[in-house]
Amino acid sequence: GTISEDGGGSRIMVFVRLRPMGKKEKEAGSRCCVRIVDRHDVYLTEFASETDYLRLKRLRGRHFSFDASFPESTTQQEVYATTTAELVEGVLHGRNGSVFCYGATGAGKTYTMLGTIENPGVMVLAIKDLFLKIRQRSFDGNHVVHLSYLEVYNETVRDLLSPGRPLVLREDKQGIVAAGLTQYRAYSTDEVMALLQQGNQNRTTEPTRANETSSRSHAILQVVAEYREKVSGNVINRVGKLSLIDLAGSERALATDQRTQRSLEGANINRSLLALSSCINALVEGKKHIPYRNSKLTQLLKDSLGGPCNTVMIANISPSNLSFGETQNTLHWADRAKEI
Ligand code: ADP
Ligand code: MG
Repeated sequence: GTISEDGGGSRIMVFVRLRPMGKKEKEAGSRCCVRIVDRHDVYLTEFASETDYLRLKRLRGRHFSFDASFPESTTQQEVYATTTAELVEGVLHGRNGSVFCYGATGAGKTYTMLGTIENPGVMVLAIKDLFLKIRQRSFDGNHVVHLSYLEVYNETVRDLLSPGRPLVLREDKQGIVAAGLTQYRAYSTDEVMALLQQGNQNRTTEPTRANETSSRSHAILQVVAEYREKVSGNVINRVGKLSLIDLAGSERALATDQRTQRSLEGANINRSLLALSSCINALVEGKKHIPYRNSKLTQLLKDSLGGPCNTVMIANISPSNLSFGETQNTLHWADRAKEI
């Protein structure tokens, strides 16, 4: 990624997280096709035996390296500390940031972002750390933290903290806002996990599998930290926003199903992901025109992507050779993101 020394401009860091082999994958007799070496290098092979791996080390094309690559044993806390802790610090200084989880359905995006009660993910750990840092620095209640949790599904925006009718995006002085979106004032970490789990339950599900979140749903948590202080008659007001995004599955819509609702939704998701890629490209290349308007996702993230801000991409992958194609696509995408 491009590092700017002066604290202005955009900075992109790209990470890869490999999840452990799942039960179903094991039962299907799948083999591991990914190896991570030294927390940095990713080797991909269709049939990864020890000898294949040694041979592959000398081959080009299927070797990738990132700011950090997390093997399956990596804890939630390690992922948080390496990818997001610095952005939380930035938010307290009024610098916006965003963290995206990208990858195919089942690759571990929601686990990384939200996690479980026992193993909370980046969203929860970021809020916990934010409260900790605020407590360490001020005892006078000058900091206020607000949370919003929303979904973009099929180019429709919904409030995950207060489900109901779709929200309309409109432009005001602060930028593009979802009209009527819940701004939940958070006082402690304890209440947050339950709130986020509940919000996640409100995500759009497949009509056929009501307990499964649709692979076409993007979830966005926005954490706004505001600092206000009166110093000899002057009011200091500093606002920082952290956006944590559990993106829709990156797999392509099936070529069959072309005339059904399904492919229409798939096309919209590709549009959002494509729009996101184009915006990041344009930003880092220093283009004047950034195509935010191309999707709801990029409109919503305008102030978290543009201007002085930090962007983190976490590409999630499965170790199974059954997901070889998706893993390859994800690694290529992440590799491109890294180059910009
Ligand atoms: P996605 O959101 O990308 O579709 P999930 O996060 O739902 O994928 O992960 C798919 C399954 O794998 C879930 O059952 C999840 O609990 C499990 N899983 C994902 N990542 C990990 C991990 N790092 N450690 C343990 N289990 C994981
Ligand atoms: Mg998910």
